[in-house]
Amino acid sequence: MSLTRKTIEAMEFIEENDVKFIRLQFCDLDGQNRNIAILANQMERALACGIPFDSSSVAGFSESKNADLVLFPDMSTIQILPWRPQQGKVARILCDIRYPDGSIFRGDSRNILRETMKQAEALGYLFNTGTECEFYLFKQDEDGEPTTTPSDQAGYFDLAPFDRGENTRREICLTLEDMGFEIESSRHEAGKGQHGIDFKYDNALLSADNMMTFKTVVKTVAQRNGLHASFLPKPLMDEPGSGMHVNASLIIDGKNIFETIDGELSEQARYFIAGVLAHIKGITAIANPLINSYKRFMGSHEAPKTIGWGISNHASLIRIPVAVGQYSRMELRSPDPTCNPYLTFAVILAAGLEGLAKKMPLMEEVNLEAESLPVTLAEAICAMEADALIASVLGNDLKQKYIELKKQEWMDYIKTVHPWEIDRYLSIY
Ligand code: GLU
Ligand code: MG
Ligand code: MG
Repeated sequence: MSLTRKTIEAMEFIEENDVKFIRLQFCDLDGQNRNIAILANQMERALACGIPFDSSSVAGFSESKNADLVLFPDMSTIQILPWRPQQGKVARILCDIRYPDGSIFRGDSRNILRETMKQAEALGYLFNTGTECEFYLFKQDEDGEPTTTPSDQAGYFDLAPFDRGENTRREICLTLEDMGFEIESSRHEAGKGQHGIDFKYDNALLSADNMMTFKTVVKTVAQRNGLHASFLPKPLMDEPGSGMHVNASLIIDGKNIFETIDGELSEQARYFIAGVLAHIKGITAIANPLINSYKRFMGSHEAPKTIGWGISNHASLIRIPVAVGQYSRMELRSPDPTCNPYLTFAVILAAGLEGLAKKMPLMEEVNLEAESLPVTLAEAICAMEADALIASVLGNDLKQKYIELKKQEWMDYIKTVHPWEIDRYLSIY
């Protein structure tokens, strides 16, 4: 077997860092991390011919003919897991997924984002994203199972008391820094036990990779502290939901199109935003993938409800935060942390690019007749089904697969008799 330079570098990294175990990681259609662990001595083989796996029980991966898929490590993503033993270390590597014949697997969402970014690059555009991700820290019961009791009673920006929640958040930030993240801010959010951590933007592929790592770190560190971290969009009815606001910028000819001049948006930024707004209903099925995602839109808290934008309006679906130079951006406030970030960024980019290509006109900033975002997953799925742009990004097969999965989820939900119905009706009827 002849060794490429990449392989030699990888083997050196593994040896120098005393890595014994390697987790080959990928993202399923539901946006969940999946991994297969191999011993470091298998790396040469993994790089040369990939590691096969049976995909039949991975969400959204099963295809009647092709249960076997092959993982190919993307060495640029290798990272040591700082919370694992430091002797005989564990590293994780994100992987590309291929069919056994070597062609790219249609359901590899990381590849879908990469391809969409390549289309933008062919036009000379660079797409960056940064996420603001919220989550709850809940207590565990005596069996270590998660409860919905928040780990603290504090509120927005609270500092004291110096409790387990605050320590856990600090440890999360330190672990992320160990893994190369540049943390911009972290704070207690408005909900009891709710936290938010923002890290620096990057090109959209790296940023989606980071989002996947972020969720693993938050869950792992919480668990080590006897807490359960939840990214559920609306775990508590009377407390705010958890969003994953997406800050997006597009660089054309070295210039960020979201830089405002005398408070005015550039023409290109207006087209981009118009494109995103034109497709937002279909995008919502991807950016807000759970039944529970739509309960977040319903609350009286700060999640968006209607389709609109604003330069300074904090409650808008899209807003333009105060920022200068490279930090100029649009902020899409609807996505939540349960989405698949690769697919979410890909459809946002494709919609923006269509806005630019078609020079789509942007609606008025204050629009009293603004349409509502989809109020249920079923409504969002219908919008996605009707959106040809989304099919062009995901490919018809994957789009169909996603819709099937989500329709099944919706059917499971509507055929269930929920406690609310019993509370409301049983004593009356
Ligand atoms: N928690 C809010 C949401 O669901 C966001 C609050 C904020 O902007 O900090 O999107
Ligand atoms: Mg926030
Ligand atoms: Mg925000």
